Amino acid sequence: MTLGERIAASIGQTGPITVAEFMTLCLHDPLAGYYSVSPRLGERGDFITAPHISQMFGELLGLWAADVWRRLGGPLIRLVELGPGDGTMMADCLRAARAAPGFVEACEVSLVETSSPLRDAQSERLAGAPVAISWWNRWDEVPVDRPLIVLANEFLDCLPIRQTVCDHGRSCERYVGVDARATLAFVAADGGSADGPQIKEWSPALKDFGGRLGRTIAQTGGAALFIDYGGESASGDTLQAVRNHCRESPFANPGLADLTAHVDFTAFLDAAKLNGAQVTDLKDQGFFLRALGIEARADALRQANPGRSDLVGRQLGRLIGRDQMGSLFKVACVHEPGFTPPGFT
Ligand code: SAH
Repeated sequence: MTLGERIAASIGQTGPITVAEFMTLCLHDPLAGYYSVSPRLGERGDFITAPHISQMFGELLGLWAADVWRRLGGPLIRLVELGPGDGTMMADCLRAARAAPGFVEACEVSLVETSSPLRDAQSERLAGAPVAISWWNRWDEVPVDRPLIVLANEFLDCLPIRQTVCDHGRSCERYVGVDARATLAFVAADGGSADGPQIKEWSPALKDFGGRLGRTIAQTGGAALFIDYGGESASGDTLQAVRNHCRESPFANPGLADLTAHVDFTAFLDAAKLNGAQVTDLKDQGFFLRALGIEARADALRQANPGRSDLVGRQLGRLIGRDQMGSLFKVACVHEPGFTPPGFT
């Protein structure tokens, strides 16, 4: 029985489930969830993320973290990554950050990861890392014994969302149910159309996490950087399944496709602020990476290896191009009060 058939059978018995419950099953079901069983990241997998496009991405985040550390006064810190994928970004980050004397020695690394195949990939990739590394299932488990520097690329978009169908004054939650053939389909709570002219999204999980993170950063100190697909607020139906680099219906292959939604950064940052942290404005990824000096880093790579000059140029274009990830992806920082994180001005 596939995960989709199992979910449909369970809905047949106990009724429709929220979109958030459906997302959680597709991503984390212990027997068949995408991240639990066989997440495939990278060019030859299902989807590609910035650290896989170029080493420059992780390197600049490493230099960002070292600069934050210096601005904090050089204390012992805990470097946390949320959803570290196959460990590529942390490996690039630590390699580049060695350029900042004393930083790596001041770090203990904590990786927050639920996926056991990805934990294996991370531990392999980071085997020679010059720091102590520990793994945690949840953000709340990470020790808060020292200031935190948190990095998270494409983590928030995995947090489950709920949806509402809006139709000329009608407003009711959109659930995942089954149709007459007992296959998965969207249904509306009131039995009307589940495809109203407008779908609104909200994420209790994102808001809850924003609040917890804000409280911890305000109390323990430090800064947390979030890079994700999203914007000022949620708009429309953004639930997206991706498999072999192609979008498909979330009901086509539950558990075999990655499932994400646009991040409502405003809701997330407001929750962090309400809990005592300060937050930056939202910036485009292109703006942020330029502010950190990605163009100079690309020039250095081109000079060191002229044969790869075109490749580096293409990678740079993908990361910062306005019509590519440069403006689709947004960056924001949640930080301790009174701190000025680099890269936002
Ligand atoms: N940051 C990486 C991977 C992005 S994919 C990159 O940019 O390449 C999403 C990552 O978040 C995966 O590592 C996945 O296992 C992890 N993840 C998803 N939901 C999670 C959750 N609720 N708690 C912890 N990790 C989660």
